[in-house]
Amino acid sequence: MLSVDEAFACLREHVRPLPVEEVALEGACGLQLARAICSQDDSPPFDKSMVDGYAFSTHDTAPTLRVIEQVTAGQVPHHAVEPGTTIRVMTGAPLPDGADAVVKWEDAQRLDDATIRSPQVIATEHATARRNESGVPIESGYCVLPRGAAFQTGQQVLSSGRHLRPVDIGLLAEIGRFQVPVIPRPRVAVLPTGNELVEGEGPLAAGQIRNSNGPMLLAALRQLGMITIDLGIGRDNLEDLRTRIEMGLDADVLLISGGVSAGVLDLVPDVLESLGVRQVLHKVKMKPGKPLWFGVRDSGPRRVLVFGLPGNPVSTFVAFHLFVRPALGTLAGAPFAAPTPRVGQLLGPVEHRGKRPSYHPCRVSGERRAESRERKREGGEKLAVEPLAWQSSADLATLARADGLALLPAGNYQLEAGQKVDVLPL
Ligand code: AMP
Ligand code: MG
Repeated sequence: MLSVDEAFACLREHVRPLPVEEVALEGACGLQLARAICSQDDSPPFDKSMVDGYAFSTHDTAPTLRVIEQVTAGQVPHHAVEPGTTIRVMTGAPLPDGADAVVKWEDAQRLDDATIRSPQVIATEHATARRNESGVPIESGYCVLPRGAAFQTGQQVLSSGRHLRPVDIGLLAEIGRFQVPVIPRPRVAVLPTGNELVEGEGPLAAGQIRNSNGPMLLAALRQLGMITIDLGIGRDNLEDLRTRIEMGLDADVLLISGGVSAGVLDLVPDVLESLGVRQVLHKVKMKPGKPLWFGVRDSGPRRVLVFGLPGNPVSTFVAFHLFVRPALGTLAGAPFAAPTPRVGQLLGPVEHRGKRPSYHPCRVSGERRAESRERKREGGEKLAVEPLAWQSSADLATLARADGLALLPAGNYQLEAGQKVDVLPL
């Protein structure tokens, strides 16, 4: 039986990022960019007015400027600005030839509908009258965003490996990239198995229970941004399992719950092997979660990961948190990262019995009572860990109250309040 660390090492060795795909921009947010993106255009593509106002030449010495044209965003000027003239421009309009600045609409002095006073002449008057306000002439380039100011043709705008955010999607749209090379979102199929499982609201006949693993896993996957495939409930017979597992092998990852222990109807490993899924590990020294099964099926460059999660809901959840989550992260392009425990301090006693390390549901909070100097030495805020009275790996209700898993090493012992314990925040 492998230790938890050996199981991590197995996964690290067998899980690699999904092959790069070109996806539509609208579906790319949150995904990892697989190649650097360079612009095919200058941005902005033309010298553009940043305000509503009058485009003019800062070198023009004429005292008044005649308005010869009006240009809105999306139009192009038909005239050039000559000495003694100006063109009224709106925000986003191209700067006319001959102009090198724009005076804002609210700063311009209009003599009539078709004439403004020269902003430069006004500035000079203010300066000679020793009045402070706007006694400075407008500089060349004022209120103009020059062509290529943001980036130029051929310039890299996004680097490879970046996780695309909404702003990046906007930037890609700006440069006209509507197909982008990314590591795609993993497609994960979910198959709870068991003859005892009842779907949905239906009444429970003798011996039956409801399927909690299916909805729990699908929810966890959706929260992680995966594409989910619900395979329904698999029954404990070879034909039904075979049919559903075959469908699941079309996905990137197949999560099966139940049927991987030592019961007479635990048929999942055999069916997987008959379908060409190579077992990488079976059984991990941990509690809960011991029966975990993991294997891969390769067809050409395509690799499907298959996890057989133990049927008990807490076992399923713990195995998902420890092993499946990091594997999904790696499929999506991140290096494999096993969950890292933090050091906490027990608020109450906890007893441990058994040869396997345990993941014990607990409540976790920031430790306020710890001295601040001690806190610094510990490298950050210490966590207070309250172990919860936990019935068994079927006790989902206690797990629902927990927000951490205390990591209790193998052995028979009792830890007392105040002692240190490793904890995995959930
Ligand atoms: P198994 O791993 O199939 O032996 O199942 C172990 C325990 O988990 C049994 O008590 C099952 O009834 C229970 N179990 C299996 N699958 C589910 C499920 N989808 N939802 C809730 N409990 C389950
Ligand atoms: Mg079962």
